Amino acid sequence: MTSRYIPVIGLEIHVQLSTATKIFCPCSTDYIGAEPNTNVCPVCLGLPGSLPVLNKKAVELGVRAGLALSCTIRNHTVFHRKNYFYPDLPKGYQISQYDLPLAEGGEIYIPGDDGRPRRIRITRLHLEEDAGKLVHSAADGRLEGAAFSFVDYNRGGVPLAEIVSEPDITSPGEAREYVARIRQTVRYLGVSDGDMERGSLRVDANVSVKKTDAATGEVLCWGERTEIKNMNSLRAVERALEYEIRRQTAVLAEGGTLERETRHWNDGEGVTTSMRSKEAANDYRYFPDPDIPPIVVTEELLESTRNSLPELPWAKERRFGEEYGLPEADAAFMAESLPVALYFEECVKSGASPLRAANWIRTEVFRVMNEKGFSMDSFPVKPSALAELVSMVDGGKLSTTVAREVFAHLAGGRSLKDALAAAGASPGGLSAEDVEKMVEKVLTVNGDVVEEIRSGRDPKGKKIKFLAGLVMRDARGQADAAAVSGILERRLKEGR
Ligand code: ADP
Ligand code: MG
Ligand code: ZN
Repeated sequence: MTSRYIPVIGLEIHVQLSTATKIFCPCSTDYIGAEPNTNVCPVCLGLPGSLPVLNKKAVELGVRAGLALSCTIRNHTVFHRKNYFYPDLPKGYQISQYDLPLAEGGEIYIPGDDGRPRRIRITRLHLEEDAGKLVHSAADGRLEGAAFSFVDYNRGGVPLAEIVSEPDITSPGEAREYVARIRQTVRYLGVSDGDMERGSLRVDANVSVKKTDAATGEVLCWGERTEIKNMNSLRAVERALEYEIRRQTAVLAEGGTLERETRHWNDGEGVTTSMRSKEAANDYRYFPDPDIPPIVVTEELLESTRNSLPELPWAKERRFGEEYGLPEADAAFMAESLPVALYFEECVKSGASPLRAANWIRTEVFRVMNEKGFSMDSFPVKPSALAELVSMVDGGKLSTTVAREVFAHLAGGRSLKDALAAAGASPGGLSAEDVEKMVEKVLTVNGDVVEEIRSGRDPKGKKIKFLAGLVMRDARGQADAAAVSGILERRLKEGR
Protein backbone atom coordinates (compact mmCIF):
# COMPACT_ATOMS: atom_id res chain seq x y z
CA MET A 1 0.00 0.00 0.00
CA THR A 2 1.36 3.40 -0.90
CA SER A 3 0.54 6.36 1.24
CA ARG A 4 0.26 10.03 0.46
CA TYR A 5 0.92 12.93 2.80
CA ILE A 6 -1.55 15.77 2.45
CA PRO A 7 -0.93 19.18 4.05
CA VAL A 8 -3.58 20.79 6.23
CA ILE A 9 -3.10 24.53 6.75
CA GLY A 10 -4.97 27.17 8.74
CA LEU A 11 -3.79 30.77 9.04
CA GLU A 12 -4.10 33.41 11.70
CA ILE A 13 -3.55 36.88 10.24
CA HIS A 14 -3.11 39.99 12.34
CA VAL A 15 -3.80 43.23 10.53
CA GLN A 16 -3.06 46.58 12.04
CA LEU A 17 -6.14 48.76 11.75
CA SER A 18 -5.72 52.19 10.17
CA THR A 19 -6.76 54.34 13.10
CA ALA A 20 -4.95 57.53 14.07
CA THR A 21 -5.04 56.65 17.77
CA LYS A 22 -4.65 53.47 19.80
CA ILE A 23 -7.53 51.15 20.64
CA PHE A 24 -8.01 52.16 24.29
CA CYS A 25 -6.22 55.53 24.64
CA PRO A 26 -5.57 58.71 22.64
CA CYS A 27 -1.88 57.92 21.88
CA SER A 28 -0.74 58.04 18.26
CA THR A 29 -0.44 54.75 16.34
CA ASP A 30 2.39 56.16 14.26
CA TYR A 31 5.18 54.13 15.82
CA ILE A 32 7.48 53.61 12.85
CA GLY A 33 10.54 55.79 13.24
CA ALA A 34 9.18 57.45 16.39
CA GLU A 35 11.48 58.00 19.38
CA PRO A 36 11.00 54.92 21.62
CA ASN A 37 8.41 55.28 24.40
CA THR A 38 7.12 58.66 23.29
CA ASN A 39 3.67 57.54 22.07
CA VAL A 40 2.64 56.26 25.47
CA CYS A 41 0.34 57.19 28.34
CA PRO A 42 -0.81 55.64 31.66
CA VAL A 43 -3.44 53.54 29.83
CA CYS A 44 -1.18 51.84 27.30
CA LEU A 45 1.60 51.57 29.88
CA GLY A 46 -0.85 49.81 32.17
CA LEU A 47 -0.31 52.13 35.12
CA PRO A 48 -2.59 51.47 38.07
CA GLY A 49 -5.77 53.49 38.16
CA SER A 50 -5.89 54.19 34.43
CA LEU A 51 -9.03 53.25 32.51
CA PRO A 52 -9.30 52.15 28.88
CA VAL A 53 -11.82 53.86 26.58
CA LEU A 54 -12.64 51.95 23.41
CA ASN A 55 -11.82 53.64 20.10
CA LYS A 56 -15.05 53.46 18.09
CA LYS A 57 -13.15 53.66 14.81
CA ALA A 58 -11.43 50.32 15.55
CA VAL A 59 -14.82 48.65 15.95
CA GLU A 60 -16.06 50.23 12.71
CA LEU A 61 -13.03 48.99 10.79
CA GLY A 62 -13.44 45.53 12.28
CA VAL A 63 -17.10 45.47 11.24
CA ARG A 64 -16.10 46.63 7.77
CA ALA A 65 -13.59 43.80 7.34
CA GLY A 66 -15.99 41.29 8.87
CA LEU A 67 -18.76 42.19 6.46
CA ALA A 68 -16.45 42.08 3.43
CA LEU A 69 -15.41 38.57 4.50
CA SER A 70 -19.09 37.53 4.68
CA CYS A 71 -18.94 37.08 8.44
CA THR A 72 -21.87 37.36 10.81
CA ILE A 73 -21.34 40.37 13.04
CA ARG A 74 -22.20 39.91 16.69
CA ASN A 75 -24.44 42.68 18.00
CA HIS A 76 -23.09 42.21 21.51
CA THR A 77 -19.37 41.65 21.79
CA VAL A 78 -17.05 41.55 24.77
CA PHE A 79 -13.35 42.18 25.46
CA HIS A 80 -11.43 39.70 27.58
CA ARG A 81 -8.12 39.83 29.38
CA LYS A 82 -5.59 37.31 28.15
CA ASN A 83 -3.13 36.98 31.02
CA TYR A 84 0.51 36.20 30.47
CA PHE A 85 3.83 37.55 31.58
CA TYR A 86 6.27 38.99 29.07
CA PRO A 87 8.21 42.27 29.11
CA ASP A 88 6.47 43.60 25.98
CA LEU A 89 3.19 43.58 27.88
CA PRO A 90 3.31 46.10 30.73
CA LYS A 91 -0.17 45.36 32.09
CA GLY A 92 0.53 41.63 32.44
CA TYR A 93 -2.43 40.93 30.19
CA GLN A 94 -3.48 41.67 26.63
CA ILE A 95 -6.97 42.98 25.96
CA SER A 96 -8.36 40.67 23.32
CA GLN A 97 -11.57 38.85 22.50
CA TYR A 98 -12.33 35.29 23.49
CA ASP A 99 -15.62 33.46 23.09
CA LEU A 100 -17.62 36.45 21.85
CA PRO A 101 -15.61 37.75 18.88
CA LEU A 102 -16.82 40.69 16.82
CA ALA A 103 -17.32 38.59 13.67
CA GLU A 104 -17.44 34.89 12.79
CA GLY A 105 -18.42 32.34 10.17
CA GLY A 106 -17.18 34.02 6.99
CA GLU A 107 -15.61 32.90 3.75
CA ILE A 108 -13.36 34.04 0.94
CA TYR A 109 -12.50 32.51 -2.43
CA ILE A 110 -8.99 32.06 -3.76
CA PRO A 111 -7.64 30.58 -6.97
CA GLY A 112 -6.89 26.95 -6.12
CA ASP A 113 -3.89 25.03 -7.38
CA ASP A 114 -6.01 23.64 -10.22
CA GLY A 115 -7.01 27.18 -11.22
CA ARG A 116 -10.57 26.73 -9.99
CA PRO A 117 -11.90 28.94 -7.19
CA ARG A 118 -11.53 27.44 -3.73
CA ARG A 119 -13.58 28.47 -0.74
CA ILE A 120 -11.69 29.11 2.48
CA ARG A 121 -13.87 29.45 5.55
CA ILE A 122 -13.11 32.23 8.02
CA THR A 123 -13.59 31.07 11.58
CA ARG A 124 -13.61 34.47 13.20
CA LEU A 125 -12.38 38.04 13.22
CA HIS A 126 -11.71 39.61 16.56
CA LEU A 127 -10.16 42.82 17.85
CA GLU A 128 -7.21 43.08 20.19
CA GLU A 129 -4.40 45.37 21.20
CA ASP A 130 -0.84 44.96 19.97
CA ALA A 131 2.05 44.45 22.39
CA GLY A 132 5.21 46.56 22.66
CA LYS A 133 8.45 45.72 20.90
CA LEU A 134 11.59 44.23 22.34
CA VAL A 135 14.80 45.41 20.77
CA HIS A 136 17.74 43.14 21.44
CA SER A 137 21.20 44.52 21.16
CA ALA A 138 24.71 43.31 21.75
CA ALA A 139 26.91 44.76 24.46
CA ASP A 140 26.88 48.54 24.44
CA GLY A 141 29.96 48.97 26.59
CA ARG A 142 28.19 49.46 29.90
CA LEU A 143 28.72 45.91 31.02
CA GLU A 144 31.49 43.80 29.59
CA GLY A 145 30.22 40.81 27.60
CA ALA A 146 26.57 41.49 28.36
CA ALA A 147 23.73 41.74 25.88
CA PHE A 148 20.84 44.12 26.39
CA SER A 149 17.16 44.01 25.62
CA PHE A 150 15.29 47.27 25.34
CA VAL A 151 11.58 47.69 25.34
CA ASP A 152 9.63 50.18 23.27
CA TYR A 153 5.93 50.54 24.17
CA ASN A 154 5.00 52.78 21.23
CA ARG A 155 3.30 49.84 19.51
CA GLY A 156 1.54 48.68 22.68
CA GLY A 157 -2.18 49.29 22.38
CA VAL A 158 -2.24 49.70 18.60
CA PRO A 159 -5.49 48.10 17.31
CA LEU A 160 -5.32 44.78 15.51
CA ALA A 161 -7.90 42.59 13.86
CA GLU A 162 -7.05 38.92 14.00
CA ILE A 163 -8.54 36.92 11.15
CA VAL A 164 -8.54 33.16 11.74
CA SER A 165 -9.16 30.71 8.91
CA GLU A 166 -10.47 27.17 9.14
CA PRO A 167 -7.84 24.57 8.18
CA ASP A 168 -9.17 24.57 4.59
CA ILE A 169 -5.90 25.43 2.86
CA THR A 170 -4.12 22.48 1.26
CA SER A 171 -0.84 23.81 -0.16
CA PRO A 172 1.78 26.53 0.34
CA GLY A 173 0.65 28.11 -2.95
CA GLU A 174 -2.91 28.33 -1.72
CA ALA A 175 -1.73 29.81 1.57
CA ARG A 176 0.06 32.49 -0.38
CA GLU A 177 -3.06 33.20 -2.47
CA TYR A 178 -5.13 33.39 0.69
CA VAL A 179 -2.81 35.90 2.35
CA ALA A 180 -2.67 37.93 -0.88
CA ARG A 181 -6.48 37.97 -1.02
CA ILE A 182 -6.85 39.06 2.59
CA ARG A 183 -4.22 41.75 2.14
CA GLN A 184 -5.86 43.01 -1.04
CA THR A 185 -9.24 43.07 0.68
CA VAL A 186 -8.14 45.05 3.74
CA ARG A 187 -6.41 47.52 1.44
CA TYR A 188 -9.51 47.93 -0.73
CA LEU A 189 -11.52 48.55 2.42
CA GLY A 190 -9.07 51.09 3.79
CA VAL A 191 -8.96 48.97 6.94
CA SER A 192 -5.17 48.49 6.95
CA ASP A 193 -2.18 49.27 4.77
CA GLY A 194 -1.42 45.53 4.86
CA ASP A 195 2.33 46.06 4.74
CA MET A 196 3.97 42.73 5.62
CA GLU A 197 7.52 44.05 5.67
CA ARG A 198 6.69 46.75 8.19
CA GLY A 199 4.62 44.35 10.23
CA SER A 200 1.15 45.80 9.71
CA LEU A 201 0.08 42.39 8.39
CA ARG A 202 1.49 39.37 10.24
CA VAL A 203 0.83 35.74 9.44
CA ASP A 204 0.99 32.77 11.80
CA ALA A 205 0.72 29.55 9.83
CA ASN A 206 -0.62 26.37 11.43
CA VAL A 207 0.29 23.29 9.48
CA SER A 208 0.03 19.54 9.82
CA VAL A 209 0.14 16.65 7.38
CA LYS A 210 -2.22 13.73 7.24
CA LYS A 211 -1.13 10.34 5.99
CA THR A 212 -3.66 8.86 3.61
CA ASP A 213 -4.02 5.67 1.60
CA ALA A 214 -3.04 6.75 -1.90
CA ALA A 215 -5.62 4.40 -3.43
CA THR A 216 -8.68 4.98 -1.25
CA GLY A 217 -7.91 8.39 0.23
CA GLU A 218 -8.64 6.99 3.69
CA VAL A 219 -6.84 8.92 6.43
CA LEU A 220 -4.33 6.64 8.13
CA CYS A 221 -2.81 9.10 10.57
CA TRP A 222 -3.22 12.76 11.52
CA GLY A 223 0.09 14.42 12.28
CA GLU A 224 0.41 16.90 15.13
CA ARG A 225 0.42 20.53 13.94
CA THR A 226 3.00 23.24 14.36
CA GLU A 227 2.59 27.00 14.20
CA ILE A 228 5.13 29.01 12.21
CA LYS A 229 5.89 32.64 12.96
CA ASN A 230 8.09 35.39 11.53
CA MET A 231 7.25 35.37 7.82
CA ASN A 232 7.58 38.86 6.41
CA SER A 233 6.46 38.39 2.81
CA LEU A 234 4.13 36.29 0.70
CA ARG A 235 7.13 34.41 -0.58
CA ALA A 236 8.27 33.69 2.97
CA VAL A 237 4.84 32.24 3.84
CA GLU A 238 5.09 29.92 0.86
CA ARG A 239 8.70 28.90 1.49
CA ALA A 240 8.21 28.35 5.22
CA LEU A 241 5.23 26.09 4.58
CA GLU A 242 7.07 24.17 1.86
CA TYR A 243 9.93 23.55 4.25
CA GLU A 244 7.71 22.62 7.17
CA ILE A 245 5.60 20.19 5.12
CA ARG A 246 8.76 18.49 3.88
CA ARG A 247 10.08 18.26 7.41
CA GLN A 248 6.87 16.88 8.89
CA THR A 249 6.41 14.41 6.06
CA ALA A 250 9.95 13.11 6.52
CA VAL A 251 9.42 12.61 10.26
CA LEU A 252 6.15 10.71 9.74
CA ALA A 253 7.55 8.68 6.85
CA GLU A 254 10.33 7.45 9.14
CA GLY A 255 7.75 6.40 11.69
CA GLY A 256 8.55 9.27 14.04
CA THR A 257 6.10 11.52 15.86
CA LEU A 258 5.69 15.28 15.75
CA GLU A 259 5.40 17.63 18.65
CA ARG A 260 2.83 20.38 18.92
CA GLU A 261 5.09 23.41 18.93
CA THR A 262 5.69 26.95 17.73
CA ARG A 263 8.46 27.29 15.16
CA HIS A 264 10.41 30.28 13.92
CA TRP A 265 11.00 30.85 10.18
CA ASN A 266 14.58 31.77 9.40
CA ASP A 267 14.36 33.44 6.00
CA GLY A 268 18.10 33.59 5.41
CA GLU A 269 18.67 29.90 5.97
CA GLY A 270 15.30 28.79 4.67
CA VAL A 271 14.46 26.64 7.69
CA THR A 272 12.03 26.59 10.63
CA THR A 273 13.41 26.02 14.11
CA SER A 274 11.62 25.17 17.32
CA MET A 275 10.78 28.19 19.49
CA ARG A 276 8.65 26.68 22.21
CA SER A 277 6.66 23.58 22.86
CA LYS A 278 2.90 23.74 23.28
CA GLU A 279 3.11 21.00 25.88
CA ALA A 280 3.60 23.59 28.55
CA ALA A 281 0.39 25.07 27.22
CA ASN A 282 -0.25 28.56 28.45
CA ASP A 283 -3.25 28.96 30.64
CA TYR A 284 -4.24 32.49 29.78
CA ARG A 285 -6.97 32.65 32.44
CA TYR A 286 -9.22 34.61 30.12
CA PHE A 287 -11.90 36.67 31.83
CA PRO A 288 -14.05 39.61 30.73
CA ASP A 289 -12.28 42.93 31.19
CA PRO A 290 -14.22 44.57 34.02
CA ASP A 291 -13.14 48.04 32.83
CA ILE A 292 -14.70 47.74 29.38
CA PRO A 293 -18.47 47.49 29.06
CA PRO A 294 -19.88 45.06 26.46
CA ILE A 295 -19.95 46.59 22.99
CA VAL A 296 -23.26 47.02 21.22
CA VAL A 297 -23.02 46.97 17.44
CA THR A 298 -26.12 48.80 16.29
CA GLU A 299 -28.24 48.01 13.27
CA GLU A 300 -27.45 51.55 12.05
CA LEU A 301 -23.70 50.91 12.11
CA LEU A 302 -24.15 47.62 10.26
CA GLU A 303 -26.37 49.24 7.67
CA SER A 304 -24.15 52.26 7.04
CA THR A 305 -21.04 50.08 6.88
CA ARG A 306 -22.70 47.72 4.44
CA ASN A 307 -23.68 50.67 2.26
CA SER A 308 -20.20 52.14 2.31
CA LEU A 309 -18.37 48.97 1.23
CA PRO A 310 -16.50 49.53 -2.02
CA GLU A 311 -16.83 47.16 -4.95
CA LEU A 312 -14.73 44.27 -3.66
CA PRO A 313 -11.76 42.86 -5.61
CA TRP A 314 -13.49 39.67 -6.76
CA ALA A 315 -16.56 41.61 -7.95
CA LYS A 316 -14.34 44.04 -9.82
CA GLU A 317 -12.42 41.20 -11.47
CA ARG A 318 -15.65 39.61 -12.63
CA ARG A 319 -16.99 42.91 -13.94
CA PHE A 320 -13.75 43.70 -15.80
CA GLY A 321 -14.11 40.34 -17.53
CA GLU A 322 -17.78 40.77 -18.37
CA GLU A 323 -17.90 44.46 -19.16
CA TYR A 324 -14.58 44.86 -20.96
CA GLY A 325 -13.92 41.35 -22.23
CA LEU A 326 -10.58 41.13 -20.38
CA PRO A 327 -9.07 37.64 -20.03
CA GLU A 328 -8.96 36.43 -16.41
CA ALA A 329 -5.30 37.26 -15.83
CA ASP A 330 -5.74 40.81 -17.16
CA ALA A 331 -8.90 41.35 -15.13
CA ALA A 332 -7.09 40.21 -11.98
CA PHE A 333 -4.14 42.46 -12.74
CA MET A 334 -6.33 45.53 -13.37
CA ALA A 335 -8.30 44.88 -10.17
CA GLU A 336 -5.21 44.14 -8.07
CA SER A 337 -5.38 47.49 -6.30
CA LEU A 338 -7.89 50.33 -6.30
CA PRO A 339 -5.50 52.90 -7.83
CA VAL A 340 -4.70 50.55 -10.74
CA ALA A 341 -8.38 49.76 -11.28
CA LEU A 342 -9.18 53.46 -11.28
CA TYR A 343 -6.39 54.24 -13.75
CA PHE A 344 -7.50 51.44 -16.06
CA GLU A 345 -11.14 52.51 -16.06
CA GLU A 346 -10.21 56.16 -16.64
CA CYS A 347 -8.16 55.05 -19.62
CA VAL A 348 -11.09 53.14 -21.06
CA LYS A 349 -13.49 56.01 -20.38
CA SER A 350 -11.13 58.28 -22.32
CA GLY A 351 -11.53 56.05 -25.35
CA ALA A 352 -8.80 53.40 -25.15
CA SER A 353 -9.72 49.86 -26.13
CA PRO A 354 -9.83 47.88 -22.86
CA LEU A 355 -7.53 45.10 -24.04
CA ARG A 356 -4.90 47.51 -25.29
CA ALA A 357 -5.15 49.68 -22.19
CA ALA A 358 -4.74 46.64 -19.94
CA ASN A 359 -1.78 45.50 -21.98
CA TRP A 360 -0.07 48.88 -21.77
CA ILE A 361 -0.70 49.17 -18.06
CA ARG A 362 0.68 45.68 -17.36
CA THR A 363 3.82 46.28 -19.35
CA GLU A 364 4.84 49.90 -19.95
CA VAL A 365 3.13 51.60 -17.02
CA PHE A 366 4.40 49.03 -14.51
CA ARG A 367 7.87 48.98 -16.03
CA VAL A 368 8.24 52.75 -15.71
CA MET A 369 6.65 52.70 -12.24
CA ASN A 370 9.20 50.15 -11.05
CA GLU A 371 12.14 51.81 -12.76
CA LYS A 372 11.38 55.30 -11.52
CA GLY A 373 9.85 54.36 -8.18
CA PHE A 374 6.47 55.98 -8.90
CA SER A 375 3.30 54.83 -7.22
CA MET A 376 0.13 54.54 -9.28
CA ASP A 377 -1.32 57.58 -7.50
CA SER A 378 1.64 59.74 -8.44
CA PHE A 379 2.14 58.34 -11.93
CA PRO A 380 2.91 61.28 -14.23
CA VAL A 381 1.12 59.99 -17.34
CA LYS A 382 -2.56 60.87 -17.09
CA PRO A 383 -4.90 58.04 -18.09
CA SER A 384 -6.37 60.32 -20.77
CA ALA A 385 -2.92 60.79 -22.35
CA LEU A 386 -2.29 57.05 -22.35
CA ALA A 387 -5.75 56.54 -23.87
CA GLU A 388 -4.89 58.91 -26.71
CA LEU A 389 -1.59 57.21 -27.32
CA VAL A 390 -3.20 53.78 -27.34
CA SER A 391 -5.87 55.00 -29.75
CA MET A 392 -3.18 56.31 -32.10
CA VAL A 393 -1.56 52.88 -32.13
CA ASP A 394 -4.94 51.25 -32.72
CA GLY A 395 -5.67 53.65 -35.57
CA GLY A 396 -2.40 52.70 -37.27
CA LYS A 397 -1.08 56.22 -36.83
CA LEU A 398 1.80 55.20 -34.61
CA SER A 399 3.88 52.06 -34.41
CA THR A 400 4.21 50.39 -31.04
CA THR A 401 7.93 51.13 -31.02
CA VAL A 402 7.46 54.86 -31.49
CA ALA A 403 4.51 54.86 -29.08
CA ARG A 404 6.80 53.42 -26.41
CA GLU A 405 9.24 56.23 -27.03
CA VAL A 406 6.42 58.77 -26.79
CA PHE A 407 5.34 57.10 -23.56
CA ALA A 408 8.82 57.44 -22.07
CA HIS A 409 8.69 61.18 -22.79
CA LEU A 410 5.23 61.40 -21.23
CA ALA A 411 6.53 59.64 -18.14
CA GLY A 412 9.35 62.18 -18.06
CA GLY A 413 6.69 64.83 -17.54
CA ARG A 414 6.09 66.12 -21.09
CA SER A 415 2.70 66.90 -22.53
CA LEU A 416 1.41 64.55 -25.22
CA LYS A 417 2.15 67.15 -27.91
CA ASP A 418 5.73 67.66 -26.74
CA ALA A 419 6.25 63.93 -26.27
CA LEU A 420 5.12 63.24 -29.84
CA ALA A 421 7.42 65.95 -31.14
CA ALA A 422 10.34 64.67 -29.05
CA ALA A 423 9.87 61.20 -30.49
CA GLY A 424 9.71 62.67 -33.97
CA ALA A 425 6.08 61.73 -34.42
CA SER A 426 3.49 64.22 -35.61
CA PRO A 427 0.32 64.20 -33.57
CA GLY A 428 -2.00 63.40 -36.46
CA GLY A 429 0.19 60.62 -37.85
CA LEU A 430 1.29 60.90 -41.47
CA SER A 431 -0.96 61.93 -44.31
CA ALA A 432 -1.05 59.88 -47.51
CA GLU A 433 0.76 62.78 -49.14
CA ASP A 434 3.58 62.63 -46.58
CA VAL A 435 4.02 58.93 -47.20
CA GLU A 436 4.03 59.49 -50.95
CA LYS A 437 6.84 62.04 -50.50
CA MET A 438 8.87 59.66 -48.38
CA VAL A 439 8.54 56.91 -50.99
CA GLU A 440 9.62 59.36 -53.65
CA LYS A 441 12.72 60.26 -51.65
CA VAL A 442 13.69 56.64 -51.03
CA LEU A 443 13.26 55.81 -54.74
CA THR A 444 15.46 58.75 -55.75
CA VAL A 445 18.23 57.95 -53.30
CA ASN A 446 18.25 54.24 -54.21
CA GLY A 447 18.20 54.48 -57.98
CA ASP A 448 20.36 51.37 -58.38
CA VAL A 449 17.96 49.17 -56.42
CA VAL A 450 15.01 50.60 -58.34
CA GLU A 451 16.79 49.75 -61.58
CA GLU A 452 17.36 46.14 -60.48
CA ILE A 453 13.71 45.67 -59.52
CA ARG A 454 12.43 47.20 -62.74
CA SER A 455 14.69 44.99 -64.82
CA GLY A 456 13.22 41.91 -63.12
CA ARG A 457 16.15 41.11 -60.85
CA ASP A 458 14.01 40.85 -57.68
CA PRO A 459 12.05 37.63 -58.15
CA LYS A 460 11.51 37.06 -54.45
CA GLY A 461 10.54 40.68 -53.71
CA LYS A 462 13.38 41.05 -51.23
CA LYS A 463 14.52 44.36 -52.65
CA ILE A 464 11.05 45.83 -52.54
CA LYS A 465 10.89 44.86 -48.90
CA PHE A 466 14.23 46.57 -48.35
CA LEU A 467 12.87 49.80 -49.85
CA ALA A 468 9.69 49.53 -47.81
CA GLY A 469 11.85 49.15 -44.71
CA LEU A 470 13.68 52.36 -45.54
CA VAL A 471 10.38 54.23 -45.92
CA MET A 472 9.08 52.83 -42.63
CA ARG A 473 12.26 53.90 -40.89
CA ASP A 474 11.96 57.44 -42.25
CA ALA A 475 8.31 57.46 -41.18
CA ARG A 476 9.39 56.42 -37.69
CA GLY A 477 6.83 53.69 -37.85
CA GLN A 478 3.94 56.08 -38.24
CA ALA A 479 3.13 54.88 -41.74
CA ASP A 480 0.91 51.93 -42.43
CA ALA A 481 3.11 49.11 -43.77
CA ALA A 482 0.50 47.85 -46.23
CA ALA A 483 -0.04 51.35 -47.60
CA VAL A 484 3.70 51.82 -48.06
CA SER A 485 4.08 48.58 -50.04
CA GLY A 486 1.07 49.56 -52.13
CA ILE A 487 2.53 52.92 -53.04
CA LEU A 488 5.95 51.40 -53.71
CA GLU A 489 4.56 48.77 -56.06
CA ARG A 490 2.50 51.32 -57.94
CA ARG A 491 5.45 53.70 -58.32
CA LEU A 492 7.82 50.95 -59.46
CA LYS A 493 5.32 49.81 -62.10
CA GLU A 494 4.65 53.36 -63.30
CA GLY A 495 8.25 54.01 -64.18
CA ARG A 496 8.77 50.80 -66.12
P1 ADP B 1 -4.90 27.87 18.96
O1 ADP B 1 -5.80 28.05 20.10
O2 ADP B 1 -3.74 27.00 19.21
O3 ADP B 1 -4.52 29.16 18.29
P2 ADP B 1 -7.07 27.33 17.16
O4 ADP B 1 -8.01 26.19 17.30
O5 ADP B 1 -7.55 28.68 17.46
O6 ADP B 1 -5.74 26.99 17.92
O7 ADP B 1 -6.57 27.28 15.65
C1 ADP B 1 -5.59 28.13 15.19
C2 ADP B 1 -5.39 27.87 13.72
O8 ADP B 1 -4.96 26.54 13.52
C3 ADP B 1 -6.63 28.04 12.87
O9 ADP B 1 -6.30 28.85 11.76
C4 ADP B 1 -6.97 26.65 12.43
O10 ADP B 1 -7.52 26.64 11.13
C5 ADP B 1 -5.64 25.96 12.44
N1 ADP B 1 -5.72 24.52 12.61
C6 ADP B 1 -6.54 23.82 13.43
N2 ADP B 1 -6.32 22.50 13.30
C7 ADP B 1 -5.31 22.34 12.41
C8 ADP B 1 -4.61 21.20 11.87
N3 ADP B 1 -4.90 19.96 12.23
N4 ADP B 1 -3.65 21.45 10.97
C9 ADP B 1 -3.34 22.68 10.60
N5 ADP B 1 -3.95 23.77 11.07
C10 ADP B 1 -4.92 23.62 11.98
MG1 MG C 1 -2.89 30.44 17.73
ZN1 ZN D 1 -1.62 55.46 25.44
